[in-house]
Amino acid sequence: MTVVENLKKYLAEIEKNDRKGNKINAFIQLNPKAIEEAKVIDEKIKKGNAGKLAGKIIAVKSCINVKGLNVTCASKTLENYKAPYDATVIKKIKAEDGLIIGMTNMDEFASGGSGETSAFGPTKNPIVLDLIPGGSSSGSVAAVAAGFCDMALGTDTGGSIRNPSSHCGVVGIKPTYGSVSRYGLIDLSMSLDQIGPIAKTVEDAELLLNVIQGRDEKDSVSQSLECSKKSIKTIGILDLQRIKCDERIKRLVDEKIQKVVKENNWKIKKIKLNYLDLAIETYYPLVYVEFFSATRRFDGRRYGKRIEEVAGPEVLRRILGGSEISKAEYHGRYYYQALKAKKLIEQEFEKAFKEVDAIICPTVPRLPHKIGSKISVEEMYSYDALTIPANLAGICAISVLAGRIGGVPVGMQIMCDKFQEARMLEIAKMVERLNNENL
Ligand code: GLN
Repeated sequence: MTVVENLKKYLAEIEKNDRKGNKINAFIQLNPKAIEEAKVIDEKIKKGNAGKLAGKIIAVKSCINVKGLNVTCASKTLENYKAPYDATVIKKIKAEDGLIIGMTNMDEFASGGSGETSAFGPTKNPIVLDLIPGGSSSGSVAAVAAGFCDMALGTDTGGSIRNPSSHCGVVGIKPTYGSVSRYGLIDLSMSLDQIGPIAKTVEDAELLLNVIQGRDEKDSVSQSLECSKKSIKTIGILDLQRIKCDERIKRLVDEKIQKVVKENNWKIKKIKLNYLDLAIETYYPLVYVEFFSATRRFDGRRYGKRIEEVAGPEVLRRILGGSEISKAEYHGRYYYQALKAKKLIEQEFEKAFKEVDAIICPTVPRLPHKIGSKISVEEMYSYDALTIPANLAGICAISVLAGRIGGVPVGMQIMCDKFQEARMLEIAKMVERLNNENL
């Protein structure tokens, strides 16, 4: 298939099922120049000088700048904002001839875990249509799961790539903090955010990761990945005693771990992290304060609308919370305490990775709810109880399909030490192989 043909196939599917048909609502905007750009890539392929991503059709979360497209963060605040430049990850994708098909729906300013807080309406789970797809990278994940593109970019502050990937049965990676440039990302929380790939297979996710990672002089915390080739011997299984986790999910993921470990002759070791149950309480003060600070530029003077006047309740809760915490901060009460707890969690992981090569657990401790059903803020936040720790520790983590419960996909999370992506991907491939054999 040529790139134009591949693109047209996806556009037809989007036409059929994104606004109409199943009404997935994965996209906020399609790239009006996509066909033109596909033709250029086809020419390059013909001449034999196309890049690594030639032929791949890629969707991008609406908080990453893509020149000329609407980067709305799914908020009325940035409704009229057209990106004047490409984020570093987009530059890298274009340099390797990846084709951007459009900008995806998301929770407003990445603040959410269900895909329901977008100003452009909720996204549906393409596998079970009346359920949430998870969030906040809801549209990017739904686009991959629905067959609207080959791969997508999401962002993950506390689980926003892995959580929807789990609910929709695709592969999602949160890279090591600092391994992918955040230049051109409209951030939720700068000390936790990472851009990462979403795809149907581990191999495709790896391909996209390899293109976007690496040091960028425009992002001073970014570093080049030092890939280690160390072999895998011991897998850590997380003690979930203090976490509220659906027993069916626990069982399903446990069985998968046992199988993959047996198949590869790895050893198993139980890992107990003493501060695991403090992850949510540690995460939110950090996010509230950093988000509050980041939103001060949306005061209506440069981008048209004042965030406080147009944003939805979850964004407002964070702005209000962040402002209150900041006021109390001269006593070092919340943000500073949260930073201390973050350090403790990071140190616990460092210690654990001296004994095991990876830690595996469910990605999300509960099954997705029906779109629109009322759940409390605490319940909503609890979806991320097992994904947030990796962001606090700065390590890498991936979600791959473990199985299904009543037709709903359930993901398992593989966490590895900082810059150990190679190892994490190897384990994920073993899980994927088992899945394929069972088909
Ligand atoms: N659900 C979490 C939150 O609302 C994570 C969001 C994210 O990773 N962007 O903060």
